[in-house]
Amino acid sequence: MIAGPCSVESREQILEVARSVKESGAAFLRGGAFKPRTSPYDFQGLAAEGIELLLEAKRETGMPIVTEIMSAHHLPLFEDVDVIQVGARNIQNFELLKELGHTRKPILLKRGIAGTLKELLMSAEYVMSGGNENVILCERGIRSYETATRNTLDLSAVPVLHELSHLPVVVDPSHATGVARLVRPMALAAAAAGADGLMIEVHNDPKNALCDGAQSLTPEQFADVARRVREIRSIIHD
Ligand code: PEP
Ligand code: MN
Repeated sequence: MIAGPCSVESREQILEVARSVKESGAAFLRGGAFKPRTSPYDFQGLAAEGIELLLEAKRETGMPIVTEIMSAHHLPLFEDVDVIQVGARNIQNFELLKELGHTRKPILLKRGIAGTLKELLMSAEYVMSGGNENVILCERGIRSYETATRNTLDLSAVPVLHELSHLPVVVDPSHATGVARLVRPMALAAAAAGADGLMIEVHNDPKNALCDGAQSLTPEQFADVARRVREIRSIIHD
């Protein structure tokens, strides 16, 4: 389980969320420092300061951190980041993928907004052909004609990717649905489909979140989801 806010907003926010998701059993802390926002007038993230705050949360809780990179120029800032995320919007930024192939960091690759699984696997090849085989794939929903949810979660991606590759597959039910109350059912469905991991957005004050508050769980809601996910996993791994 990878859990944490969409964006790192302040020291208090990231430390509070980190402590609570650790308590609920999350293995990794997430939080965006460089945010790929649709509008340039929306909060763009705390950048270098956001990474510093994640590192502080890592020191305090011992949790490894996952955060998104938007430009290879920022790589020096990611020295102590444990898992580097490439978001849906940059997944075909091939020059960025080639640079990440020269690192030995685990790279979490999110499926493109309208990307096929073949395209996701080819993005993984860009990283691996540079010598970095530490790649994790992430299904985060794709754009469809449906408007009830932010994206349409393609859960068949999990078994299909497992058939086509040896790479671990993580599901992000937060961006896939865009709606906090849909995160629990889709997280459980993803676990039942055999996902190797889940990435879930959690905020200590979703209503006032600077990014993606509508899809963010409270720490209490996350604790409940984490417990139920463990139950599902114990059944399917019997
Ligand atoms: C995120 O994880 O906060 C994010 C921006 O995700 P995606 O690239 O899948 O939209
Ligand atoms: Mn988000």
